Amino acid sequence: IIMTSILEAKTDQVDNLALPFVFINNEWHKSKSGKTFKTINPSTGEVITEIQQGSKEDIDMAVDAAYEAFRFNSPWRTMDASDRGLLLNRLADLMERDAAYLASLETLDNGKPYHVAYPVDIMGSIKFIRYMAGWADKNHGKTIPMDGPFMCYTRHEPVGVCGQIIPWNFPLLMLAWKIAPALSMGNTVVLKPAEQTPLTALYVAQLIKEAGIPPGVVNIVPGFGDAGAALVSNRKVDKIAFTGSTEVGLKIQQMSGVGNLKRTTLELGGKSPNIILADVNIEQAVEQAHFGLFFNQGQVCCAGSRTFIEASIYDEFVERSVERAKKRTVGNPFDSKTEQGPQIDDIQMEKILGLIKEGASQGAKLLVGGKRIGDKGYFVEPTVFSQVEDNNVIAKEEIFGPVQQLMRFKQLDEIIDRANDTNYGLAAAVFSNDLDKVNYLVQGIKAGTVWVNTYNVLGAQTPFGGYKDSGHGREAGEYGISQYTEVKSVITALPKKNS
Ligand code: ADP
Repeated sequence: IIMTSILEAKTDQVDNLALPFVFINNEWHKSKSGKTFKTINPSTGEVITEIQQGSKEDIDMAVDAAYEAFRFNSPWRTMDASDRGLLLNRLADLMERDAAYLASLETLDNGKPYHVAYPVDIMGSIKFIRYMAGWADKNHGKTIPMDGPFMCYTRHEPVGVCGQIIPWNFPLLMLAWKIAPALSMGNTVVLKPAEQTPLTALYVAQLIKEAGIPPGVVNIVPGFGDAGAALVSNRKVDKIAFTGSTEVGLKIQQMSGVGNLKRTTLELGGKSPNIILADVNIEQAVEQAHFGLFFNQGQVCCAGSRTFIEASIYDEFVERSVERAKKRTVGNPFDSKTEQGPQIDDIQMEKILGLIKEGASQGAKLLVGGKRIGDKGYFVEPTVFSQVEDNNVIAKEEIFGPVQQLMRFKQLDEIIDRANDTNYGLAAAVFSNDLDKVNYLVQGIKAGTVWVNTYNVLGAQTPFGGYKDSGHGREAGEYGISQYTEVKSVITALPKKNS
């Protein structure tokens, strides 16, 4: 009832709420195929609304719009860089104006607690967009003193039409991570939100229009994997930015090289090690490890899903972790006391429950949780395993759910090998006050981010991305900006050259 009333209350205030349509050229379209799909409230299993289902034809139309908007001499191409920044800041202002609505929509569609969605997803997106807005007129090239009677300068030019495919775990934040650097650097975009969570993206589409971003610069096509695949195989697309599973990332990487050679940035799965040394404050480390795994219902690509604990504190750490998991409040994500909402859908829930069963059958010790809660919505009990061996399926596969693996280690060298014994390399953490040990481990771990005495801390300013099968390229920060530009060397004859 609370959820519906929030949606209705706000829906009435929004003129021409164009949520469930395909957004191309700042206009709302029905899908070419006439197909629709349902988006489900994961807290109840009920349908929220029907969405126009984009497929290849809609994607191609959106790409044509983005291609036109990127045409030489177009309003977007001739705009001052600082004005692109201004437009992004205006979009951030509008998102701030509608923050409560956006957070409600995110909680409704994704199931994450409202009191997390508001500060993390909505405010985090706004901050990210403002950060990238600032870069618009600051990412300039160089003048290079080359040999011979010549001069060289570089231009940082936009890549062109960017296809962006995003997942459901941070729907709005991932949209911000994708569109903000692309627009800041002068690209145009076709974005496909995840089929499970299209609502905030479509709401922001309305704000993109309201902000005055020119038609065709951002196009948003809701749909399934076939729509994503159509985007990847469209030859007018110059770059694909993808966040999602390693399985789909591998396909995207291959398809991006068929027909034309698209630039790709891929942010994929993880099985991140969280290494706890014996000298820590156990209470704090337990809390951080708990947060590192259970945050966002465990649906985080960089979740600390292999917690390695030094042998001498292992038993106490396990005991306290179980106590903490027992206290975790699971339920209605609109209740301010709720720490954990539902998993995104029945498919994910079943996958998690299946892996829990497998973990137990392979000899890991299930200490708490392990079951579905109730029969409405997709809630899973906070679950903790001890005595997890490295070759156990729950120590190998990305579970993407509220399931913590507590593992024991004895030596620093041993732990580097074990931490790196995975195809993934997205993130890692070390908890210790021994600087030499920390620095040793930081160098040894193969991961795009290593946290020290903290977990799951990301910022607009700091690069994020993976080693190995966790992807390539970096998002956020100056490194992220560089992935949305091509460098052009302009070499000019300079018959009379002086220093
Ligand atoms: P998850 O396992 O987290 O659902 P996926 O990798 O399956 O992640 O999905 C992430 C995004 O990729 C979604 O927007 C989804 O629709 C899209 N997608 C799925 N399959 C493909 C594909 N073959 N090509 C392009 N995009 C795809």
